[in-house]
Amino acid sequence: MTSNVRTRFAPSPTGFLHIGGARTALFSWAYARRHGGAFVLRVEDTDVARSTPEAVQAILDGMQWLGLSHDEGPFYQMQRMDRYREVLAQLLEKGLAYQCYTTPEELEVIREAQRARGEKPRYDGRWRPEAGKVLPPVPAGVQPVVRFKNPQEGVVAWDDLVKGRIEIANAELDDLIIARADGTPTYNFCVVVDDWDMGITQVIRGDDHVNNTPRQINILQALGATVPQYAHLSMILGDDGTKLSKRHGAVSVMQYDEEGFLPEAVINYLARLGWSHGDDEVFSRQQFVEWFDLDHITPSAAQFNTEKLKWLNAHYIKQTEPVVLAADTARRLAARGISLDGGPDLAAVVALYRERVSTLVELAESVAAYYQEPQADEALVAQHLTDGAKDALAALATRLQTVSWDKASLNAAIKETCAEKGLKMPQVAIPLRVKLLGVAQTPSIDAVLEVLGRARVLSRLS
Ligand code: GLU
Repeated sequence: MTSNVRTRFAPSPTGFLHIGGARTALFSWAYARRHGGAFVLRVEDTDVARSTPEAVQAILDGMQWLGLSHDEGPFYQMQRMDRYREVLAQLLEKGLAYQCYTTPEELEVIREAQRARGEKPRYDGRWRPEAGKVLPPVPAGVQPVVRFKNPQEGVVAWDDLVKGRIEIANAELDDLIIARADGTPTYNFCVVVDDWDMGITQVIRGDDHVNNTPRQINILQALGATVPQYAHLSMILGDDGTKLSKRHGAVSVMQYDEEGFLPEAVINYLARLGWSHGDDEVFSRQQFVEWFDLDHITPSAAQFNTEKLKWLNAHYIKQTEPVVLAADTARRLAARGISLDGGPDLAAVVALYRERVSTLVELAESVAAYYQEPQADEALVAQHLTDGAKDALAALATRLQTVSWDKASLNAAIKETCAEKGLKMPQVAIPLRVKLLGVAQTPSIDAVLEVLGRARVLSRLS
């Protein structure tokens, strides 16, 4: 590590790693990498009812797939309970927090009265100790919560690295519960202790946390901690301009894997979701790390654009070595029960298609017919495999029995067949494609023949 920059990604493991979380992770990771700092992974698993080991695994898988490696962690909040209790005790001892015996029922009565008076419902501070104030007698049998003694005067302010200066009057904030009646610390408190203990210098997170920030800053200040810088990222909207959700299709990062996207494409795409470097659209992970800064993050919402992601994916597929694509394709074909045994060299087949597809799923679908008997739909067969076409294919088959098996000779054989039968090139080449691969469009027909090999071509033509 060459600097003191320390960022973190702090997901709550309640489902999968979604696109918004992945972007937050990417920006935090890139900021740490850019500055030679450390990237910490922290799992906020205190919502025991919703946090599952599978969800934790889904986050780790998603991060690994994207290549976002952490330097420290994963730290689990559930394993840090003793530490939170220790800090709670310190705050109580210093009079910076206090026990509050107001029951939920009493709170409801207080709030009801406030609402009736047209006021904002909030805790009224009845157990907050003040010089000269007499507190109510401690009721028997009630376990107290612990509240943070929020400053009542002044403002809490920060220069958000994305949103600019934000100021909140302390009078707006009531005394936050930092430990429940059963002694468990609450969410904002755990985050504060963690950011403090982990020495986080820049908190980069979704702007759904903006409302927590003034409370967290006040607690950090009470603890005498250095307050980190904050960068709140605006939300991501779906293609249709509404908040990104399951309705928009894939939201889990691993679903993009399933749907045939390369991690490089997803990284490049996410990098441009709310951040820019001039007009650059296509750049590598390395370039991104070199360029990334928080000054060029837009404070307005970013809109997801599936077509652009596909365009980037097509770009990265084109750039990937056929042997690498072949390994992925083999896995996808095997999942569909298609064996490569006895078939043409997969890397050679894939090389013919990598410039024509925008996902790896399309790639696997395109090449499947090289490894199993093609199933052309009836309409296609009726349209192209006319009697005249069949006659031409039979004549071609005869030529193909002896022709030298290279592209130039194969092309010549097709041309000779056209001349013999008085047909134009497509009148032979299209029926040939339908017969061999079950589709009317393929890469150049001589290349297809070459890769399929004589035996397979003749058997499919017979
Ligand atoms: N665990 C929070 C979430 O998943 C993030 C908390 C934070 O970044 O401070 O939304």
